[in-house]
Amino acid sequence: MVPLLDLKLQYATLQTDIEQALLRVAASQVCILGPEVDALERELETYLGVRHAIGVSSGTDALLMAFMALNIGPGDEVIVPTFSFFATAGCVSRTGATPVFVDVDHVSYNIDVDAVRRAITPRTKAIVPVHLFGQAASMDELMAVSAETGVPIIEDCAQAIGTQTPDGRRVGCIGLIGCFSFYPTKNLGAFGDAGLVTTNSDELAERLRRIRNHGMEPRYYHSMIGGNFRLDAMQAAVLRVKAPHLPSWHQARRANAALYEQAFQDAGLSEGPGRVHFDDANAVLLPAFVHADSGVTDHHIVNQYTIRVAHRNALRSFLQSRGIGSEIYYPVPFHRQECFANLGAVDDMFPVSNCLAATVLSIPIFPELTSDQIHEVVETIAEFVRTHRSTTPECADCEECGTIRTS
Ligand SMILES: *Cc1c(COP(=O)(O)O)cnc(C)c1O
Repeated sequence: MVPLLDLKLQYATLQTDIEQALLRVAASQVCILGPEVDALERELETYLGVRHAIGVSSGTDALLMAFMALNIGPGDEVIVPTFSFFATAGCVSRTGATPVFVDVDHVSYNIDVDAVRRAITPRTKAIVPVHLFGQAASMDELMAVSAETGVPIIEDCAQAIGTQTPDGRRVGCIGLIGCFSFYPTKNLGAFGDAGLVTTNSDELAERLRRIRNHGMEPRYYHSMIGGNFRLDAMQAAVLRVKAPHLPSWHQARRANAALYEQAFQDAGLSEGPGRVHFDDANAVLLPAFVHADSGVTDHHIVNQYTIRVAHRNALRSFLQSRGIGSEIYYPVPFHRQECFANLGAVDDMFPVSNCLAATVLSIPIFPELTSDQIHEVVETIAEFVRTHRSTTPECADCEECGTIRTS
């Protein structure tokens, strides 16, 4: 039995502190915003190295607020990677603007900067890199594109709180606005929905704080239209207990990733991370840690450890039958979603995302995972490969991103 994530283990180590924090809020009866939220914001500003951190109701709302703050709406275009969680694109459409999909890089799975350049038009109002699975997108190159074109960058940091770029900055403080999620499965998870918006701009911070509360300032005077995007004090109190543990949790996730790398190689299933093509349909492709040599500690916070296998669906069922949790992040890229069919995206333009959607599988990586459990996962995958060895990959798209030599 290895669950994909076991939050009870984390809670067990923090229970006393969290109970005290929740009782403190209960006694205060300040339930929304207030001193707990203020304190969380100041603490996260310090951790992230950003001027303004604004606690909000979810990661999705953080993205929506960022677009609202930039007055993005009908007739505008926003460039997003087609391989991400739905909110990245859904929030663009909710403003009335059009999401423009681009493919991702086949090594990092993050937005392809050349594809971004090709997608820019006079209507482009923002570019939204997603730091997918906890690894930073190519921010230097994207900021260069932004400087050349004047198009701002909004960072989707939902999976990447604390992730550092190779020069040591934490994501969310590089582009114009950063959007974070505290959904319980993220590295910093609340006891419900919660999120954060960050910016170094005083003016944008003021707008975002106003948008968070119906565009109201002063009370009952509305100069703009916002929403109820406020953060609850209970969530802030829980997050304040958890946030100081982030460095050690990130470290434990990276250590688990290193154990996986070794175990997959020892089992003869992988020749190491960074291989992007299947030259053996039974190989396991491991995620590349592209900034590992930069010398910064949090070059990857490993929110997900995502392998690629040609027989993905069969492997997932096999793992499930052995009590091992896994998840497909993500099975359907945006350009194939029914709700975006009207946008007329051409499927052939996204070979990497199409291949990833058919082959990715995220396996357990949470900090409390034991070395025995990691070996159990790898041995079970090895058993699958031995017993299901096959020359016909189930992945119909594999030829698009690599060569499968079937023998
Ligand atoms: C989780 C997530 C979101 C949305 O965050 P919620 O807090 O669940 O609303 C947005 N983008 C990405 C990439 C995510 O992983």
